[in-house]
Amino acid sequence: MSQALTNRIHDLRDDLIALTQDLIRIPTLNPPGENYRDICDYLEQRLSRQGFDCQLVRAHGAPGDSDRYPRWNIVARRDGKHAGPCVHFNSHIDVVEVGAGWTRDPFGGALEGDKIYGRGACDMKGGLAASIIAAEAFIAEHPDFHGAIEISGTADEESGGYGGVAYLAEKGFFDPQRVQHVIIPEPLGHDRICLGHRGGWWAEIETKGEIAHGSMPFLGDCAVRHMGAVLDAFETDLFPAMAARRTDMPVIPDGARHSTMNINSIHGGQPEQPEDYDGLPAHCVPDSCRIVIDRRFLIEEGIEATEQEVRDLLENLRQTRPGFEYELRELNRVIPSMTDRAAPVVTTVQNAIHEVLGKNPDFVASPGSYDQKHIDRIGRLKNCIAYGPGVLELAHKPDEWIDVSDMLKSACVMAKSLHALLVSEPKSPADR
Ligand SMILES: [Zn+2]
Repeated sequence: MSQALTNRIHDLRDDLIALTQDLIRIPTLNPPGENYRDICDYLEQRLSRQGFDCQLVRAHGAPGDSDRYPRWNIVARRDGKHAGPCVHFNSHIDVVEVGAGWTRDPFGGALEGDKIYGRGACDMKGGLAASIIAAEAFIAEHPDFHGAIEISGTADEESGGYGGVAYLAEKGFFDPQRVQHVIIPEPLGHDRICLGHRGGWWAEIETKGEIAHGSMPFLGDCAVRHMGAVLDAFETDLFPAMAARRTDMPVIPDGARHSTMNINSIHGGQPEQPEDYDGLPAHCVPDSCRIVIDRRFLIEEGIEATEQEVRDLLENLRQTRPGFEYELRELNRVIPSMTDRAAPVVTTVQNAIHEVLGKNPDFVASPGSYDQKHIDRIGRLKNCIAYGPGVLELAHKPDEWIDVSDMLKSACVMAKSLHALLVSEPKSPADR
């Protein structure tokens, strides 16, 4: 990369800090999805000054969208002087709840040494800020570039992305005719390229019973005991089977290279009473018990077999355990996504990391999913990775922070990638 571009990015250090702080100071908590319009307006002001055409898109009718909490997204596009591919940086603008344990103001954006603190600092307002600085520095240095640069800020990634990237993909924003390369600056670290993620299948299982007086449980049928049999079958059959499977995808951390399942919640019998109620419960045999499972599956397993395995286990209980009745309701499903290591966006960012950092990147895949799923499945765009600054393990934690130097390095890699894709001679259509 030209030294001039690197120098320009380092000269923008104060601007990068101020931009990150401004973004953190707009509390875009999701749920419920607050201040999306404010952060989109802020980004529109900033990016239109730099010659981007900005579209604000509300995801009307998406889950969670209402007049009180509208799902606003921004797509900013800057066309170059010549034909060429479009490089798109996609960042989610929402952050998760604050939670307990903070020693700093979660929306203060305090700068201490090299670190900026706040909810969303690493996941992922720091990544958004780095991509903006990278694009602005690149455009200033190479105003006659080919193709186009897009920067989007999208809603609801933390709750599935249906009011964000999924909605935009359905409207054609991620059509491969329109966009050729996508980089999602999620906090995977400045020297790692994330190729994709595992799949997920969420379901509620309910066991049924029959209500009776608690002093004569033999006259009823206890749904909690039936659920106990389900959990027992999970322990003896399902968990060992899942632990024995290992994916070839480079999922991190290592434990997530196996299939996993979390039991999200369990409830049986009467509703729990509010804390200020000090009456005693009535004596009843529970006629219903429910659990929610969060099953993360491997690309090698597939969604159908994942679902069938749980259904078979429940059917087996129905045939062997007297009185066992159940219902299974699927809550959501996410298909795994994996970008080819030879895809052009992968090799471009790989070379840029090598040039900027003097090392080869680690290739990783994410244990949980992110918006790549919608770009892949709805947009049909396969040339997509996650690459951005930040320490993944800090996401959603108290005192979340981002390193300024980490952001600067990532911005240099992003700018170098823009240079490789948009400044060299126009690519042949096959490379796009
Ligand atoms: Zn994120």
